[in-house]
Amino acid sequence: MPETSSSPARRDARNPWLIDTHEVGRRPGSSHTVRRDVPVDTPLGVPDVITVPEGARITLDLLLESVVEGVLVTGSASAPTTGQCSRCLEPITGTVEVDLTELFAFPDSTTDETTEEDEVSRVVDDWIDLEPVVRDALVLALPLVPLCSEDCAGLCSGCGVKWADLEPGHGHETIDPRWAALVERLEETSGDTPANGSDR
Ligand SMILES: [Zn+2]
Ligand SMILES: [Zn+2]
Repeated sequence: MPETSSSPARRDARNPWLIDTHEVGRRPGSSHTVRRDVPVDTPLGVPDVITVPEGARITLDLLLESVVEGVLVTGSASAPTTGQCSRCLEPITGTVEVDLTELFAFPDSTTDETTEEDEVSRVVDDWIDLEPVVRDALVLALPLVPLCSEDCAGLCSGCGVKWADLEPGHGHETIDPRWAALVERLEETSGDTPANGSDR
């Protein structure tokens, strides 16, 4: 087991989301490039709709610049996505990419003193934590209604088969025998229900 140091900064040095601002330098104008792949340990997004899955890697390509008020982070983050077409339910894969611009304010800077805690990110104990910023940006960039293709026709409401797999002119003129059987079964079930709910 590695020795657990009492300093939070030391312990956090193994967290790939954390950047030591000493690497950037405190002189305004000094900068530091961060390019790294961070493994995803908690999936991002909506399960069964679209996620950046556990085990995927988020690619960071960032420039950290020292400015008067703090550390300005600009660049991009991208990650692979997996999900399901919301029309035809086919599995889909893709990529989500976001541009980032985020100021991490120094303690006692004007920004620090004039903004609420949750309004602007902060430099804490000389460290910045990229995780909340990147995760939030990626989640917001995920499609709400993922599609296998823009013109996906979805499923036939009569039989649940993908329109793409059905013959031209496919349709359901009469009640499907499987539905007829289901209707029969529903009628039997409701006949057995003791309370009929008609009293008011
Ligand atoms: Zn589809
Ligand atoms: Zn059909």
